[in-house]
Order: sequence, then C-alpha cells, then structure tokens
Amino acid sequence: MGKLVRALSRDGFVKITAVDLTDAVERARNIHHTLPVVTAALGRTMCAASMMGNALKSDGDSLTLRINGGGPVGTILVVSDDRGNVRGYAQNPEVDLPLRPDGKLSVGAAVGTDGMLSVIRDLGFGEPVTGSVELVSGEIAEDLARYFVDSEQVPTACALGVLVAQDQSVLRAGGYIAQLLPGASEDTAARLEENVARAGSATAQLMGGSVEDMALRVLDGFEPSILETDDVSYRCGCTRERVLTAISGVTEDELRRMLLEDGKIEVKCRFCDQVYTFTDISELLAQRS
Ligand SMILES: [Zn+2]
Repeated sequence: MGKLVRALSRDGFVKITAVDLTDAVERARNIHHTLPVVTAALGRTMCAASMMGNALKSDGDSLTLRINGGGPVGTILVVSDDRGNVRGYAQNPEVDLPLRPDGKLSVGAAVGTDGMLSVIRDLGFGEPVTGSVELVSGEIAEDLARYFVDSEQVPTACALGVLVAQDQSVLRAGGYIAQLLPGASEDTAARLEENVARAGSATAQLMGGSVEDMALRVLDGFEPSILETDDVSYRCGCTRERVLTAISGVTEDELRRMLLEDGKIEVKCRFCDQVYTFTDISELLAQRS
C-alpha cells in the first residue's frame, strides 16, 4: 500500500504533499510490461497525479495528467481519484534507451520536449477544467513545477523519482510537491529552496526513511506538522460499460462479423489487466445512439 502525507509549516506559508507510490508503480509495470525508462516516466506521472488528485477533496472528482512530448514513449495518461488512487498507461511501454552519462534513466529523451503537459480536473459538473504548459525538459518534475508557476501562479518545488532495480522491478517510487502560499516572504522562499537542494532525490530519501520523514525534512526549520495521511494504491474501477468506449470506433457491421467468427468479443481495459468478454450484440451497442 502506498502512502500520501500532507504537512504545513507552523506559520502556514509553506505546504507540502509527499507520496510513496512504490507498490502502485510496480503494479503498473506488471500490468503494462513497461521497460525501465517507461516505468520511470509513467511512475513519475503517477506520483504527480496522485498528489494533485488528493488535493481535490470532493467525492467523485478526478484529475487527469496527460503528457505528450513527441518522444518515443508517446502519450502518458494518468487518472487520479479525489483520494490519490491512480491508474494510468504509457502509449509505448517497450521503449528502451541507453542510460544518460550520469547513469540515470533517459526519461527526458523518452518523453520528449515537443509538446504539452495538461492537467484536466473533472469536478463532476459542467465541462472539465484544463490547464496546459509546454514541456521544457520532459523530466516531468521540472515541467510540473513550471505548470504550477505559469498556469496557477503558485511558486512550487517538485521532486519525482522512480528507482528501478537490476531485475527491472520498482525499488522506490515517490515524490513531493512543496508550495508557497500567498504572503510568504523571500526568506521563506530562499530557505525552502535550500532545503530542497539539501534533501536530495525523492528516491534516495525514501530508501533511507519514510514518506513522513521526507515531508518533514523538506520543511526543516519551518516547524511543520503532518495534517493528514492517506493510503493510496493503483485502483482502476473499470466496468463493462466503461470498457466499451475503447471499441467505440468499431462499426456495428464489424462487431457482428467478429461475433459470428469467434462467438465472443474480448475487450481489455486500457488501465488494468481485466478482460471483459461480450457475446451479446445488444450489450455491445447499448452505449451507442
Ligand atoms: Zn481496468
């Protein structure tokens, strides 16, 4: 089970959300058979979406993070519910790239920088609210920080990391989003920046301690307290009705032909490993008008 915490400085000017999503990212790897660089790109996006989704706080709301930088991995799409439970996929799970000169996975090269990061908040009424920012690094954390600054005018420090083991399993996945609230002083901003630089990568912190430790360390000197802790996991919530949208492009004639040939149509959920079997044409067509 993953864990998400929210903490606030004593003076109320600095808040942080931090998450350990190791199990969920490992689950995503097993569902989608991602190679390491894609595991990292998808996992970082999952961590970000989980923290942003948890901020929604209203039953039934959801948040979608979509990244398309024109790189070999294609589109990455992650949906979070209002607690921070996530599901997601990357268009091309089997991208393989050489490591960077510093030994890290080439996430930026896999994602690309020719495109957008979009945040779509579905608040359950009216049209979903979308905000976008052009990708600059493709490393995701930096791009997300820029999104908050440019699109929401909130000074933000963000770290996202996925540590992949020799056998390609996920050793640690997590991150944090630290933000200044209106009225924060320049001293506060400078101190937070120092803390972030000193704290090190999210995965190194999670190897050495808990997600609470990470949140409190980044807010060191601000007399922070933990406000809230939530369990978070990979959660799909797909239904027979919902997977039918995946074949909405298939014509009725084609569906009838497939049923005649095979006696059934199998539709796999895009987000998990659930396979739904349909044998009845009227159910297949029920969503269409
Ligand atoms: Zn599913």
